[in-house]
Amino acid sequence: MNTGKMRKIAILGGGESGVGTAILAVKQGFRVFVSDSGAIKENYRHALQEKGIRWEEGGHTEEEILSADEVVKSPGVPDTAPVVRKLVAKGIPVVSELEFAKRLSRGKTICVTGSNGKTTTATLIHYIMQRGGMDVGLAGNIERSFALQVAEGDHDWYVLEISSFQLDNMFDFRADISVLMNITPDHLDRYDFCLQHYIDSKMRVIQNQGPGQSLVYWRQDEHIEEELRKRLVEGYAPQPTPSSKPAREGRPTLCGFEDSDYERLGLHFSQMGQHNKRNALAAYLATKIAGVDEGTIRQCLSDFPGVEHRLERVAEKGGVLYVNDSKATNVDACRVALLAMERPTVLIVGGLDKGNDYSAIEPLVRQKCVGLVYLGADNAKLHSAFDKLGLPVADTDNMRDCVAACQRMAKAGSVVLLSPCCASFDLFHNMEERGEQFKECVRQVGVNGAKG
Ligand code: ADP
Repeated sequence: MNTGKMRKIAILGGGESGVGTAILAVKQGFRVFVSDSGAIKENYRHALQEKGIRWEEGGHTEEEILSADEVVKSPGVPDTAPVVRKLVAKGIPVVSELEFAKRLSRGKTICVTGSNGKTTTATLIHYIMQRGGMDVGLAGNIERSFALQVAEGDHDWYVLEISSFQLDNMFDFRADISVLMNITPDHLDRYDFCLQHYIDSKMRVIQNQGPGQSLVYWRQDEHIEEELRKRLVEGYAPQPTPSSKPAREGRPTLCGFEDSDYERLGLHFSQMGQHNKRNALAAYLATKIAGVDEGTIRQCLSDFPGVEHRLERVAEKGGVLYVNDSKATNVDACRVALLAMERPTVLIVGGLDKGNDYSAIEPLVRQKCVGLVYLGADNAKLHSAFDKLGLPVADTDNMRDCVAACQRMAKAGSVVLLSPCCASFDLFHNMEERGEQFKECVRQVGVNGAKG
């Protein structure tokens, strides 16, 4: 619709997503207003000022926002925010950054979603495509925003890591290749505590897909096949996989995989653990569909350096392997990490507990661990959960002491695993800082005559 008047875009949220959108929108000739209910970081304020974009922080001026033709909402802003409710009531479209930017991009998209494994899989796909000589950007929840990359010159392809919050505000968006890793309950507080609402949100990754598009998904997930049956294919019968089921009329190509395909295809992935084999399979299939040659894909799987803070091999010192899994901020992530350990394990746990039930990992701790080092401002709950197992334990409240305690417990041939089950905010700014400090302390092991 061209009314002759400059269209106005209001943007809710002044972070990476919102500021990227603002820069793209201004470049496209829109009038732009950015509004954040909290504080906007210095670097983003600077970027807005530099482009002459109007902005506010610490609240939303409704006249500015409710007078927009369209509103782009950052994923952190909930649908329940009063200003969003008013926009919806007034019939003003509220879309995600990805929806907005995709309209203005010539690039094809590979969209990765799921409850777990998004960052690893998206980063791996990007790594393979780059090595395959493709012009490809990585965006979504990671790296620079999709909108900013489109504004700065655009790419032929984008790998987008997409959270359910972003999917909720995508309507006309269509992924060329969608990748659905798994669906396990998460963020239910944003979905009326209804699992089906969360599932519906994840399934939006296939919306608008047709015969020219593909879906890669994990067939052993509890929900995905059933949802596909409901949505896509009447009489849908799963086949031995990975099978590219030819598209039925009007339907995308379905490419499901299961764990055994990893061995069957003879893949070798550089990263540890069964869950990573799934991530490798998803990336293998998606990049094959995108047109990367088989040899490049296999080579990239075997030399992928991994993603920081996710089962990251830090160093081997005195026969002890140190692994940084600081990203494991919940019990299930620690469970997956312990499953991947093939050596006697000294486990570092602790931090800000969000109501954890540690019984889920108790059998694995019994089976795999030779010592536990608690790292937190308050370790009382860890003592009551684990001391009864009779393993050596140590109490620490800073990373230096923690790594020193691990050194004392670990013997040659064992592994020290930082996979804390907890958020980091009691002792660190974030999980990245916790992981960085761990790596720094590990680097010091064996230096200055320290044991190692
Ligand atoms: P996300 O971006 O979805 O949070 P990441 O790739 O950052 O996923 O991995 C986060 C954590 O999730 C990992 O440390 C690991 O514990 C777990 N994880 C990774 N991949 C999978 C998978 N395919 N299935 C189940 N859990 C996984």
